[in-house]
Amino acid sequence: MKTIGLIGGMSWESSMEYYRLINEGVKNRLGGFHSAKLIMYSVDFEEIERLQHQGDWEKLTSIMTGAASSLTGAGAELLLICTNTMHKMADETEQAAGVPLLHIADAAAAAIKKQGLSKVGLLGTRFTMEQNFYRGRFLDRHGISTIIPDSEDMDVVHDIIFNELCLGKVYDSSRKEYVRIINWLAKAGAEGIVLGCTEIPMLISQKDVQLPVFNTTELHAAAAVDASVGNAEWQPG
Ligand code: GLU
Repeated sequence: MKTIGLIGGMSWESSMEYYRLINEGVKNRLGGFHSAKLIMYSVDFEEIERLQHQGDWEKLTSIMTGAASSLTGAGAELLLICTNTMHKMADETEQAAGVPLLHIADAAAAAIKKQGLSKVGLLGTRFTMEQNFYRGRFLDRHGISTIIPDSEDMDVVHDIIFNELCLGKVYDSSRKEYVRIINWLAKAGAEGIVLGCTEIPMLISQKDVQLPVFNTTELHAAAAVDASVGNAEWQPG
């Protein structure tokens, strides 16, 4: 079993899910008392959130590369960044780690392709929806195109993530807003919906949506289990 390194705390609400899902996955695969070998480097999200909104990606990159080398120094043999947004600096983080990084977009893309889909609606932070690091990877490496909400609804999606979900607050009124926006994405041609923020599954699950839903937290954690205990269908992108 390979030791998994997790860069977490963004937010800790979703990192708890990673911890649970990875341990459950290893136990399901190996049985008995088996559990995951993993190390988590958990950041102070107050600082991360402030730097993201200030646009100080340089400082954020140095925090991520520092965390990555701490994890490999502690024995991590593969690395996960437990947030979609911070994959903006995935390349630098992987380089600093010196071990393979399992990219969250590749884990999501593998599941999308498995269902034969090529056009999906993407929900996440404004950074993830708007910038190219995520959508570009979907398209260039996997041939998957993305549809995003209009600017006003992007604000709604982004604000619910930061003002509610990352603080552990889950409201029915916000779920209704997300479902409304998902319905709009479906009308615009989305064949599936990517929950491209690791907290969104606190709010939305498959039962809320008619289209297939891709839970990036779950898919990323499953990829980590595959990579740690061997084999599987998941291949890095
Ligand atoms: N966990 C979220 C994500 O998957 C947002 C937190 C962050 O900004 O890193 O993008």
